[in-house]
Amino acid sequence: MICIVCPKSCRLRMAESGEIQGQGCARGEEYGRSEFMNPVRTVTSTVRISGTGQPRCPVKTGRPIPKSKVLEAVRFLDGVELQAPVLTGDAVCRDILGTGVDFIATRSLHIQKSKEDSQ
Ligand code: SF4
Repeated sequence: MICIVCPKSCRLRMAESGEIQGQGCARGEEYGRSEFMNPVRTVTSTVRISGTGQPRCPVKTGRPIPKSKVLEAVRFLDGVELQAPVLTGDAVCRDILGTGVDFIATRSLHIQKSKEDSQ
């Protein structure tokens, strides 16, 4: 695999002994070990929201989750609809797929009064 930590793009491989080879530095070794043994990703997406002028609220995982669960986590959001108000940093979905990681709102969306309410 190619290390993406810096522009040098070293070619990493894992020997049968579990040793990471081909790295140009310690950061690449750490990256390679993580990618070969337990790859994780931070997921960013959006989720439906009502009660505000915006149709969707941007969210991201509070921590990286296993790469194998990324698609399932995004599909899970299809069934979620938030209700305004939502503040940046709010945990809007807790313990995604049993990972212990929450989806966090990355934008504050406040209640929008209808025209009838404001008259
Ligand atoms: S192994 Fe180190 S030097 Fe090579 S691409 Fe990764 S971070 Fe850069």
